[in-house]
Amino acid sequence: MVEEQHYDVIVIGTGAGGGTLAHRLAPTGKKVLLLERGDYLPRERDNWDSTAVFVQGKYRAPEFWLDQHGDQFPPEVNYYVGGNTKFYGAALFRLRPQDFGELRHHGGISPAWPIRYEDLEPYYTEAEHLYLVHGAHGEDPSEGAASAPYRFPAVEHEPRIQQLSDDLEKQGLHPFHLPIGVNLTQDEHGQPTHASACIRCDRVDGFPCLVQSKSDAQVICVDPALRHDNVQMVTNAYVERLETDSSGRTVKAVVTRLGDGSTVRFNADVVVVSCGAVNSAALLLRSANDQHPNGLANSSDVVGRNYLRHNNLALMAVSKEPNPTVFQKTLALNDWYLGSDDWDYPLGGIQMLGKSDAEQIRANAPPWAGKVSPKMPFEELAHHAIDFWLCGEDLPMPENRVTLEKDGQIRLTLDEKHNAEGVKRLRHTLEGMLGKLGMEEHHLLDHSIFMHKGMPIGATAHQAGTVRFGADPASSALDVNCKAHDLDNLYVVDTSFFPSIGAVNPSLTAIAMALRVADHLAERLR
Ligand SMILES: Cc1cc2nc3c(=O)[nH]c(=O)nc-3n(C[C@H](O)[C@H](O)[C@H](O)COP(=O)(O)OP(=O)(O)OC[C@H]3O[C@@H](n4cnc5c(N)ncnc54)[C@H](O)[C@@H]3O)c2cc1C
Ligand code: SF4
Repeated sequence: MVEEQHYDVIVIGTGAGGGTLAHRLAPTGKKVLLLERGDYLPRERDNWDSTAVFVQGKYRAPEFWLDQHGDQFPPEVNYYVGGNTKFYGAALFRLRPQDFGELRHHGGISPAWPIRYEDLEPYYTEAEHLYLVHGAHGEDPSEGAASAPYRFPAVEHEPRIQQLSDDLEKQGLHPFHLPIGVNLTQDEHGQPTHASACIRCDRVDGFPCLVQSKSDAQVICVDPALRHDNVQMVTNAYVERLETDSSGRTVKAVVTRLGDGSTVRFNADVVVVSCGAVNSAALLLRSANDQHPNGLANSSDVVGRNYLRHNNLALMAVSKEPNPTVFQKTLALNDWYLGSDDWDYPLGGIQMLGKSDAEQIRANAPPWAGKVSPKMPFEELAHHAIDFWLCGEDLPMPENRVTLEKDGQIRLTLDEKHNAEGVKRLRHTLEGMLGKLGMEEHHLLDHSIFMHKGMPIGATAHQAGTVRFGADPASSALDVNCKAHDLDNLYVVDTSFFPSIGAVNPSLTAIAMALRVADHLAERLR
């Protein structure tokens, strides 16, 4: 147990945002306390077991949120040291430069950010290096300029995916190597070397890495940060609320319920909230007081609003040839990110999912599947499956929001169909090409492991936007350094700050911003 004492910085949450920020502050010598509601994820064989992870949901948070109708649903969230990065696919993309400006979509406007791509670019480079991203800048025509190459070469395609890449190129497209954070050293055939930590297995997407070789926030940031004497962490420490001083301008206590049921008040010069977009908003709303009747940092009334995710679709195509690929998450395609020949609005991006196995397919097959496909048992289907993930941009709507019930339960109000036309067109575009790519779509299973929980409200994996940053305190909760406009010592550093989410996976942007805010804090505390 850490003594109740004063810290320079308290960071609440140890995921992509909080873990990275603590890592960056560790060498400054400032006293940093990490408070994490979860514990270390147990290392056990079930980490890599499809049934345990996907069917039983063994590691998911044991809680339910309410939707707009008051119906309960289990959110896709994981409370552990490292946060949701323990389970992420480690696809670490930069937003496109255009995502930082205003973009017109079929369903409305994706608003501009208060900073430009160029402002974040140095931090994107540092984030890629820190998280051991393997990739190849320059292959994807939609990406912005990079000031330095990746530290590690792209993960090589296995033969079936190389063939897919070649076939896509023959169609005049620009497939590229997917940027991914793994501690992999490859030999000349792309196989892991004897000394490689990553064994290049088929469990990279959605499973925790049993051998700690995925670049998650615990392995890359929290554990190394804790080697500094000035950094401490308390696990099983659920932050209930933040209290302000009499001026209302300063957070003076972080009220925390510990694993033994006791409540402790920690305090620090600076408090950083990094609980993930839904829980960060919930914490600020829970912390309402006389000076902040609508919740902390919420004079603008935007906290909890503009909840973002992605308009996702997983598509399982069946290759005529077997697909013996093990590590499938090596290819992506952004040719239609901003539009297509017959559509002036953004469609989104395509990337490979981790390779599906028979157990995952069985778990998600509709009950009549066996009758429709009697000649193709799940094992054989899995052997021929090629798994794509299609990602379209969701747009901010004030009505899509996190609120709290009287008893504190989280309610998520969401229009699930908003701006979905782009990703539908992306799907039709891909489907139209499958024949030329030696595949056919398998209609049985167009909702796959992630997506059958996918598009519905429970797909909270890419949550963002609920505590947006901006230049105007009337329409944003945070300033450009992610400090609350309304308070002097409160920051929010996770995916909450996004004014828009683009159509790429969000973590690298959260990581880059955490590095940028940490530099600002180091300067402030000097
Ligand atoms: C299956 C899956 C696959 C994904 N794949 C990718 C991918 O390939 N690429 C990508 O970029 N993103 C991916 N994501 C999304 C990615 O994991 C998140 O974007 C990222 O983790 C968000 O970081 P964060 O800091 O905002 O929040 P989190 O990582 O969720 O961290 C929040 C932390 O705060 C803690 N916490 C919450 N409330 C409290 C409280 N009250 N008190 C104390 N602690 C608290 C939580 O336990 C958690 O540790 C995936 C997510 C999932 C679930
Ligand atoms: S591919 Fe590598 S990083 Fe991913 S789960 Fe397997 S060993 Fe871990």
